[in-house]
Amino acid sequence: MKRLSLILVALFNCSVQAQDTETTVLGLVLPEGDAQVASNQLASLISYWPSSQTGVSIKMATVGIPLQFVIPVTGDAQADMDLAMATVGPIRDQYGADIVLFFGGFLTVEDPETGEQINVCGRANQENWLGFGAPKWDPNGAGLDLNGSEDGFVAIISTDIACGFSFTVTPIHEYGHLHGAGHFDPDAIGYYLNDDSRAYHVDTGFVAFKTIMAEGGLSGTQTFVFSTYTGFYNNMRALVRTAQSVANYRVPQCGLAAPINVQGVLTNACTEFQHSTHIVFWDDSCPAATAYYQIWASQPLGAPYTFKGSVPIDIVGVSVVGASAWVKVKACDFDTCSPLSSSKYLAAYLCFPQS
Ligand SMILES: [Zn+2]
Repeated sequence: MKRLSLILVALFNCSVQAQDTETTVLGLVLPEGDAQVASNQLASLISYWPSSQTGVSIKMATVGIPLQFVIPVTGDAQADMDLAMATVGPIRDQYGADIVLFFGGFLTVEDPETGEQINVCGRANQENWLGFGAPKWDPNGAGLDLNGSEDGFVAIISTDIACGFSFTVTPIHEYGHLHGAGHFDPDAIGYYLNDDSRAYHVDTGFVAFKTIMAEGGLSGTQTFVFSTYTGFYNNMRALVRTAQSVANYRVPQCGLAAPINVQGVLTNACTEFQHSTHIVFWDDSCPAATAYYQIWASQPLGAPYTFKGSVPIDIVGVSVVGASAWVKVKACDFDTCSPLSSSKYLAAYLCFPQS
């Protein structure tokens, strides 16, 4: 069920924030992308991201199935990503997303040697921390390099079955590129952030092994680790250096706040099961800070509010039985929740015989 309007009035409750230590990732499904696969891919990114080593964790901008982002796609990974990046500004701002990951269908890029379109499973836009020679690291006074904040924040990932095993590899591989991590073979594009920003790969003929940033075509089993081979293959060093900067590409301009304008409509006064059903919805003055909402109810009217469940969006269906209820809402992130909304909706119970 959806509200008719996607526009929320932005009553930003501005506060000066310390440096952000959490990267907000917004996943958006392009036409031809598979939303369920994308959801699983985002989960793999969270489970393999080395939060403890980098000091920066990941927060998803939305919970559950990623949002749809409808633009005319062609399947050309670079063209689709460029168009998506050029048009994503308002929704990126709405969610305060540092990184935006687009999920498309079957993707191709032009092979620079043959001119043919070849299948790819992902692509990241990272020019800030890529190339030959210094300086690639250009920090501001706070020690952060934010030069990629407007063009080094996107990647496109295929959800097509052709990418098979790469389903879980690609998100974290591309996310690594966005943090200055590089392939095993630096080839013509140079190294990424540091001279040792390289994946590790070995094939002795007996043992074959490669880390997460290694190219898909190399032999061996891909493992979900970043290289940490001091001095030669050390993508972890790049991540540790850049993660805090990426987390500050967008600094939240508002904080978690109690939902406002809680209201609703009666959808069925008395079902065959003696329930009264309502739709309850509300506004959030800072959706960028909210991960999900909690629904609380006072039933019968005047009883203490008790927790009834959580929903990922600002609307929920409720079904009351036996007595009317006041419904209030809390906005929550992954650490804490706002106070209960001051506004409330009367979910009336209307199945009693009228006297
Ligand atoms: Zn790559």
